[in-house]
Amino acid sequence: MIIGTGPAGLFCGYLLAKHGYRPILIERGKRVDERSKDVEAFWAGGVLDPESNVSFGEGGAGTFSDGKLNTLVKDPLGRSREALSIFVAHGAQPQILYEAKPHIGTDVLTGVIGRMRDQIEAWGGQVRFGLRADGFRIKEGRIEGIFLSDGSFQTCHDVVLAIGHSARDTFLWLEKAGVAMEAKSFAVGLRVEHPQKMIDSLQYGVSPRSKFLPPAPYKVTARAQDGRGVYSFCMCPGGYVVNASSEPGRLAVNGMSYSGRDGKNANSAIIVSVTPQDFGQEGPLAGIEFQRHLEEKAFAAAKGEVPVQRYGDFSPYATAGRIPDGFEPCIRGKWRYADLSAVLPQNVKIALEEGMAQFGRILAGFDDKNAILSGVESRTSSPVRILRDETLQSNIRGLYPCGEGAGYAGGIMSAAMDGMRVAETIAAKYAPFHAQA
Ligand SMILES: Cc1cc2nc3c(=O)[nH]c(=O)nc-3n(C[C@H](O)[C@H](O)[C@H](O)COP(=O)(O)OP(=O)(O)OC[C@H]3O[C@@H](n4cnc5c(N)ncnc54)[C@H](O)[C@@H]3O)c2cc1C
Repeated sequence: MIIGTGPAGLFCGYLLAKHGYRPILIERGKRVDERSKDVEAFWAGGVLDPESNVSFGEGGAGTFSDGKLNTLVKDPLGRSREALSIFVAHGAQPQILYEAKPHIGTDVLTGVIGRMRDQIEAWGGQVRFGLRADGFRIKEGRIEGIFLSDGSFQTCHDVVLAIGHSARDTFLWLEKAGVAMEAKSFAVGLRVEHPQKMIDSLQYGVSPRSKFLPPAPYKVTARAQDGRGVYSFCMCPGGYVVNASSEPGRLAVNGMSYSGRDGKNANSAIIVSVTPQDFGQEGPLAGIEFQRHLEEKAFAAAKGEVPVQRYGDFSPYATAGRIPDGFEPCIRGKWRYADLSAVLPQNVKIALEEGMAQFGRILAGFDDKNAILSGVESRTSSPVRILRDETLQSNIRGLYPCGEGAGYAGGIMSAAMDGMRVAETIAAKYAPFHAQA
């Protein structure tokens, strides 16, 4: 049984089904087509559905993403190549197999995910939507089955926990069930937007860029005076900032793009590292409470819409002259101007300003007064690690923590690869994949 159909759960299920196993995948959210409608309705000003949003539903958090497919994970067994080939076999652009920075785009990714699900079902697996795992039955330290949100109980002895990093209610009952976990460091900050034309001209040295060149990306890193890392994350050339909230009364942003990357703005998260010492309380779930606190402040700042602020209004250290007055954000979801300076803890705000000043020396105008900030970027990686041993099982035997939520991945590709690794490990107990040919 696999809980969650993000990249980790989906690729785990895909590989198992391909090799003759009959995995059951359960997903609290909806199928990707229905989910897309819910997300569009929310962005148009509708009510947030806590079970069907940018974080929850078929394809997981990666579905409404930029679809960047690069990873820095060591890969001696070629899982990355295999994952990219699976994407291509289900409709992704073939050039992702050879490009240095492969990119799918949310419009293509949604179709790919649906076709991967069709394939899993064609091989004999099951994918069940609108079904949440709400508890385990554990006997003598071993998993016996799962209590589901429809009131049923599913007996199972191998459970892959691929729940992503936003399933806060699930982390809560996992802790109560005695699953060993610990708080981990992550990073928080704000999204920043600049004109894509400005980034192109800085990166390529010509303006406009050649039609043979893609909208330019960037990556910037700095160290604040107090030692915190400050860096750009999830940079989306020609992209959009999205309202990526999943809990009522709390607001989080993220970034995405379409395959053409033809939005007029470049955006990235500028984030600052935070450690368990910053969380203000003890315990494995302290980082979740820290995130929630920031998201509540972001929600309140603009009455539930995405709070947006020009950098010059956020910081007295902004520069001027590179971005014209009247520069507007590209945001999917309602937004309004607000004061973001109180949303972040003061030490994070100071580190972010120091980072912006350093980035402005690398990319002139990065810290321009007309650059646009939005917030809060709080879901950069999991604030929790669910411990697992060399057999990839937790202290509860038969339970395989997997992917980003468990703390073993940080992006679509690394989550997919971790899912594949867990699939290989489970299969090795019964009939290893390589022995089946
Ligand atoms: C807007 C956005 C843009 C992004 N852009 C990129 C990008 O360009 N490139 C990149 O590499 N990464 C990107 N990411 C990050 C990437 O999406 C994640 O790293 C990745 O999706 C993690 O995969 P996962 O399978 O571990 O978890 P998730 O994708 O989070 O999937 C977990 C799934 O489990 C389900 N679930 C949770 N709890 C339960 C439960 N109790 N019962 C049943 N189901 C449950 C959830 O509904 C969800 O579908 C982006 C993320 C977002 C939000």
